[in-house]
Amino acid sequence: MNIFAARMNELYGLIQHHSELYYDKDSPEISDAEYDLLVRELNALEKDYPQFARKDFLTHKVGGTPSDLFAKVNHETPMLSLDNVFNFDELENFFTRIKHENNFTCEMKIDGLAVSLIYEDGVFVRGATRGNGHVGEDLTENLMLVDDIPKRLKNYPSGKIEVRGEILMTLDRFNALNKIREENGDNLFANPRNAAAGTLRQAPRNNYVIKERGLDIFLYYVVDAQKFGITKQSDALTWLDELGLPVQKAWKLCKDFDEVKNFVTDWEVERLKLNYVTDGVVIKLDDLTLWPEIGTTSHAPRWAVAYKYPPEEARTKILDIKISVGRTGVLTPVAILEPVKLGGTQVQRAGLHNADEISRKDIRIGDIVRVRKAAEIIPEVISVDKSMRNGEEKIFTMPERCPACNSEIVKIPGEVAYRCPNRASCSAQLKEALKYFASRDGMNIKGLGNRLSANLVDAGKVKTLSDIYKLKFDDWIQIDKVRERMANFVMSQLEISKSRPLVNLITALGIKDVGKNAAALLVEHFGNIDAIKNATIEEIASIEGIGTVIAESVREFFANEANLNLIEDFRSMGFQMGSEIKITGKKLDGKIFVFTGTLSTMTREEAGEKVKALGGKVSNSVSSKTSYLVAGDKTGSKLVKAEKLGVKILSEQEFFDIINLLQ
Ligand code: NAD
Repeated sequence: MNIFAARMNELYGLIQHHSELYYDKDSPEISDAEYDLLVRELNALEKDYPQFARKDFLTHKVGGTPSDLFAKVNHETPMLSLDNVFNFDELENFFTRIKHENNFTCEMKIDGLAVSLIYEDGVFVRGATRGNGHVGEDLTENLMLVDDIPKRLKNYPSGKIEVRGEILMTLDRFNALNKIREENGDNLFANPRNAAAGTLRQAPRNNYVIKERGLDIFLYYVVDAQKFGITKQSDALTWLDELGLPVQKAWKLCKDFDEVKNFVTDWEVERLKLNYVTDGVVIKLDDLTLWPEIGTTSHAPRWAVAYKYPPEEARTKILDIKISVGRTGVLTPVAILEPVKLGGTQVQRAGLHNADEISRKDIRIGDIVRVRKAAEIIPEVISVDKSMRNGEEKIFTMPERCPACNSEIVKIPGEVAYRCPNRASCSAQLKEALKYFASRDGMNIKGLGNRLSANLVDAGKVKTLSDIYKLKFDDWIQIDKVRERMANFVMSQLEISKSRPLVNLITALGIKDVGKNAAALLVEHFGNIDAIKNATIEEIASIEGIGTVIAESVREFFANEANLNLIEDFRSMGFQMGSEIKITGKKLDGKIFVFTGTLSTMTREEAGEKVKALGGKVSNSVSSKTSYLVAGDKTGSKLVKAEKLGVKILSEQEFFDIINLLQ
């Protein structure tokens, strides 16, 4: 394949992956700046090599898929995204392109979640997310819980008004929320945008957290403004304010390009004083009567553009370099910083990746450094200001012994990482391994978070992973902050976790390089744990999607006696070890499952995941194409319809019998 076509293919894959994480799961893995770079590279390649371009790819549309958790709504006027510019040359091109030189509004670009609100005769009747721009999610019930949204407008005209804006979480609220989550050992939100999106898009049964955490909104757009006699965007902003809707103060009507440039420059620093995150400036042609003529692309209006600021940086001092020991024993150096404000949050630690990175950047304890943070929680050190050195800075060397268990550290030839080899009893590794074991892709043990995992290891209650299942009620309540209710809850969750499919167990074991996907491939190919245990490197490596690196890790894991004992322990406790039948294909290929009612041992989503893992499909409604209806407790109209259509109905038990046999 042509190398440009190959790179474009790679970019399509990467962008697709990161968009899903960002829009649909609200949990990005890379910073917005890194994502924007990928998109820019793709745009440039698409321009030069249009023959390899995918015209219907998501970068030509508005991101996000409306979730099935909510009813869908159609946006009569599409909710679009914005085109980005990253410097003044590109901004000037925008001015040249739209052929208008005068009067633009400059509004701070709020980094939140776009929503549409509809008022009928001044009463709030419907609220929705942007979704894919044409179809959004009906979030009326949840948006009703946002205190900042007036349920009744002031001085409103009769009939329908649709307004649009951004839901956000203020920095104060975000910092307080993450502090509590950290104390409880829950995963932290990566940034206020994700916290806002995650909070707003709660399933109705959990939407009480909206009031608890608190969300805010700023409106910036009136749909069909001319219907209300408005001809300028600046007047629209004033009108929104008069209706009693919150409008941010950080906007200005600018006469020409120079004024726009000044606004952009002034606010790059000024914005850091705001109590919400902004990532740029939105520049809109003020005369909105010209908008229809200038038009839109499939993804963004042509009469507006977003000037995106580069990721934020700060200067601070490295007070110390500490070592954290990960699940597989890898030692990671972490810089302890003099606290500094970055992206609105107080930053005290920066990731240093590994020893090679420290010597490449020549980072020393006591150095003044530049740190950068975009969407990620832990910022990174970009460079050292060597002119600030006074000779007292200390060169960092990796420790020779593990800070947690005092074992001698090894450096594997050819790898940058230093490792603590004591997998069996290093407390730092065990804490991480337990956290991973209990995580969602692992045994999914609710209630067993980071803090509790660490406390159990510190208290000496858990020395190997299976110990967690042997703890008695009295053991649990001896742990700091564990009360009776919590103890009972975690113990019941542990019981439930024993029946999770083999894929979860293989993932939970934390075999080096074996995540959820590799675990699924192993289970799909070998069928049961003994076959995996006895497989040769060649056999494992022959599976499509698994290479020799993973195959060697799997062999190494099962060659270790302590690991084999662990597996036997799990077997004796009744864990799912797979079926005796070797599975060679996806057993549920082409089968469509519908769930109704409440399942007693897991959520419908989790049960659906099992069907999907075996190649089947899950649908929300019963039709003649449905293969099985799985009926839990308190069923409704789906059961009646399935009976009418003669669809096979399975009890919860029958369903799990089938699934267990196939796994
Ligand atoms: P966007 O966030 O770049 O800009 C468009 C949106 O800005 C509008 O839809 C609107 O909701 C909002 N906005 C905020 N203030 C506004 C104002 N005053 N006036 C008008 N609109 C305003 O575009 P997007 O389509 O929502 O998201 C694309 C961006 O999301 C990318 O540029 C990237 O930075 C980020 N992203 C990141 C990842 C990741 O993995 N980190 C993945 C996908 C997307």
